[in-house]
Amino acid sequence: MTTRPTPVILWFRRDLRLADNPALNHAAETGAPVIPLYIHDGGPVQDRGGAASLWWLDKSLRALDESLQTRGSRLILRSGDSEAELRRLIGETGAGAVFLNRRFEPELFARDADIAHSLKAENVEVRGWNGTLMCRPGGVLNGSGSPYKVFTPFLKSLLAAAEPPAHTTGPRRLDTPAWIKSESLDRWGLHPSKPDWSTGFDWTPGEAGASAALSTFVNGGLKAYSRDRDYPAAPGCSRLSPHLHFGEIHPWRAIQQVRAAAADGRAPSSEADKFTAELGWRDFSAHLLHHFPQMTDTAFRPEYDAMPWRDDPEGLEAWRRGRTGYPIVDAGMRQLWTTGWMHNRVRMIVASFLVKDLLIDWRKGEAWFRDTLVDADLASNVQNWQWVAASGADAAPYFRVFNPVTQGTKFDAKGQYVRRWVPEIAALPDKWLHAPWTAPPEIMRGIGLRLGHDYPRPILDHAEARDRALEALRTITAARHDDPGH
Ligand code: FAD
Repeated sequence: MTTRPTPVILWFRRDLRLADNPALNHAAETGAPVIPLYIHDGGPVQDRGGAASLWWLDKSLRALDESLQTRGSRLILRSGDSEAELRRLIGETGAGAVFLNRRFEPELFARDADIAHSLKAENVEVRGWNGTLMCRPGGVLNGSGSPYKVFTPFLKSLLAAAEPPAHTTGPRRLDTPAWIKSESLDRWGLHPSKPDWSTGFDWTPGEAGASAALSTFVNGGLKAYSRDRDYPAAPGCSRLSPHLHFGEIHPWRAIQQVRAAAADGRAPSSEADKFTAELGWRDFSAHLLHHFPQMTDTAFRPEYDAMPWRDDPEGLEAWRRGRTGYPIVDAGMRQLWTTGWMHNRVRMIVASFLVKDLLIDWRKGEAWFRDTLVDADLASNVQNWQWVAASGADAAPYFRVFNPVTQGTKFDAKGQYVRRWVPEIAALPDKWLHAPWTAPPEIMRGIGLRLGHDYPRPILDHAEARDRALEALRTITAARHDDPGH
């Protein structure tokens, strides 16, 4: 009599795909029954995603389940503390191993290590791979064996060291026992109701949606990516960020496709390199967070925690709701609220407005983005907020304060972006669109636009706000020079 091998639990997390999935491939190679599992963790160490992320998760899990069903399997859903749920499923099925793609966020990494340790004591093996980053954190270190803190040498080392894995489509069939109970996704209530604020979310979560977004980009925006990626009205960027966050596509897969397009002449190779470098920022963010876990809560450059942040609930609320009176800022914040996403150039403008013009702590902006972005990603969000606030590892200098009017005029010269998201000022001619308060009264009367009524007057004067921000900076640089320990 032959004994059947004990099942392997394939614990999906932020790797919601079948292609290029190392944990899945290894699970299938064992020849054992495979139990695909997703745990909606209510335990103390949670994924720090917000409401918009949960909207995405709901659809992505449905898509993953459908794909698994085409391979004769299905997704088992459980909710509760991860370790308790794993133990329960092991008890029900006699599974002898748990395979997973690692999470590198420090709290999750430590939690997974604890789970692996405790299951090992019960003879259940936990094995992990890197299925989400170009290179696992720690995989590239500088000449003295320390983590890089500057992006350019990090990227250079990464591209020299990392081997793009061969493309795989995943096993054709998976043998999953039919009797295992699953919870119902509908009952998890991840999709918002009362009210449903997601009606403007125009996305196709899931692996197929990720592939479609990538091909649209490769056959479109890639050709002039380095120029057009800065123009929020242009289809110049890939919009892959939520797909990448949920692991619906491997970053190397995206790079292989842009490189293939460069190789067969569909796009210049410099554009493929630029796109690869942007993905490098994603890896760099994950790598920084992994090595410097305190950066979620404190400034990477500690002197910046002495910044005299203002407590300004009204200013914060005007920023969140897109009612600052600065059209490019308001357009960005409304795009975020309506679609769960904001263009990168505009993210930089609105973030600069919050931390410099309003002098509000970057952590408040980071928290709002975390709740409202479909691509909210702990490492990328914190790293980018600290980049704008100048407190990050390889950050923009604090004295570079974006002027929202000149940024708008430069990157949305014809006003298509602002007119789409701030329709109440759409009739303003281009000349005044980014600074409506400068329009002559007869123009305003002619189009029937009343500032302070139809659209807010600016909540602050940018020139004064800039001076205030630079003064705040002087207080911390002066304090640093007074510090004898410095
Ligand atoms: P593309 O230009 O097509 O770039 C391709 C991919 O490269 C992106 O999908 C993303 O994975 C990666 N990438 C590009 N730029 C960056 C960057 N600066 N940092 C890290 N990765 C990058 N990105 C997130 O994924 N999650 C976040 O929570 C997030 N928060 C941000 C907060 C602020 C204040 C700022 C300024 C930027 C933030 N970004 C974040 C980075 C960037 O804005 C988005 O990744 C990008 O806008 C996504 O659009 P795209 O997929 O079309 O990008």
